[in-house]
Amino acid sequence: MMLVTAAVVLPGPAGESIVDGGVLVDDAHIAAVGPRATLEGVAPPDTPHLDFPTATLLPGLVNGHVHLAMDASPDPLGALLRSEPATLAVDMAHRAARLLAAGVTTVRDLGDRDGLALRLRDAIDAGTRPGPRILTAGSPLTIPRGHCHFLGGVVEGVAGIRAKVAELAAAGVDVVKVMAGGGHLTPGGPRMWESQFSRAELRTVVEEAGRHGLPVAAHAHGLTAIADAVAAGVDSVEHCTGMDGQGRMRRYDDLMREMADRGVAACCTTCGPDWRSVRAAEGDDVARRTYERLVLLEQFGVPLITGTDAGVANASFDDLVGLLELYHWLGFPADRVVELATVASAAAIGLGAVTGRLAAGYSADLLVVEGDPLVDLSALARIRLVVARGRAYPAGDVTRPATMTSTDSEEGLR
Ligand SMILES: [Zn+2]
Repeated sequence: MMLVTAAVVLPGPAGESIVDGGVLVDDAHIAAVGPRATLEGVAPPDTPHLDFPTATLLPGLVNGHVHLAMDASPDPLGALLRSEPATLAVDMAHRAARLLAAGVTTVRDLGDRDGLALRLRDAIDAGTRPGPRILTAGSPLTIPRGHCHFLGGVVEGVAGIRAKVAELAAAGVDVVKVMAGGGHLTPGGPRMWESQFSRAELRTVVEEAGRHGLPVAAHAHGLTAIADAVAAGVDSVEHCTGMDGQGRMRRYDDLMREMADRGVAACCTTCGPDWRSVRAAEGDDVARRTYERLVLLEQFGVPLITGTDAGVANASFDDLVGLLELYHWLGFPADRVVELATVASAAAIGLGAVTGRLAAGYSADLLVVEGDPLVDLSALARIRLVVARGRAYPAGDVTRPATMTSTDSEEGLR
């Protein structure tokens, strides 16, 4: 057992807080949450106690859209395409460790090659590497020469779709990713706003994934691709830019209403450097219009997932907070932003009963940050402790796990 206490505990849901509270951890799970005095009363006498009297304790954060196989450099595909799988696997383990050190205890990896994220997921699950819980899609489904075709998920026709989804399911993926439309990462492929699959083909993806009990995440910038993905019954739409046939961003209120009605989540990926540079170069009004869809999706009641697309250019593995500051700048209250990055995102990726919340029975995924993120959201970057499934990393130092055995430590970041 381990007792973690802090000046304030934010269990996750907006509006909830416990002054001078804590969490009692039993192995990989949370045994109890409450006021310090109560927990001290129920904890066995020699329970290790980590006390942070000037800090805030909250659930570990969720980054719902990352690419561990990419290096966040200006040319993220270069390294990915040049690397041998063994080298890439080591780099990916380091990136996972960086995510964890920055307080992220759960990620969805939505575009990988050679099943590398699957193996990393299993190593982290087994406790031989530090890292967040990974839900991985493996190779995303795409068309010949389509968006990210080099990741190995090219399919043709209904039979091809079924076979690829079955193959991914057999390999053990957690989610199926389909490139419903084009993307800017792929030279020569369809343009961002163009569709890659028909509505009927997307239905086949959803149907086949469903047969294997898997959710579907659809990459879509174009309005048609978003509409087709939603109609096909996907679980989440990634990016959700809303571009018309000329590549101009449009409002799509009716479609947002439909997403809300069907419970289709939106993961509007961006990262701190990107939105800040739009704001710096083009001013507040343009920046607000560029990211207006986040506000509208919230108003229409679409479930939101916080995701940075970590791995693509500018999107580093330790800056989820940079994205959360965008939500706050757009007018989301700080407690709602914390809720989005924890409870809400966990629920929208299918882990609502597992993580994202400080409550008895949940996974012991905790974050302790100096100060109060409800007063100053950037406090989320001042990390004192990260706990992932019961393993504690003081000051987010993933090379010094406090509760690992010596064997585990040697494995560490090697
Ligand atoms: Zn992506």
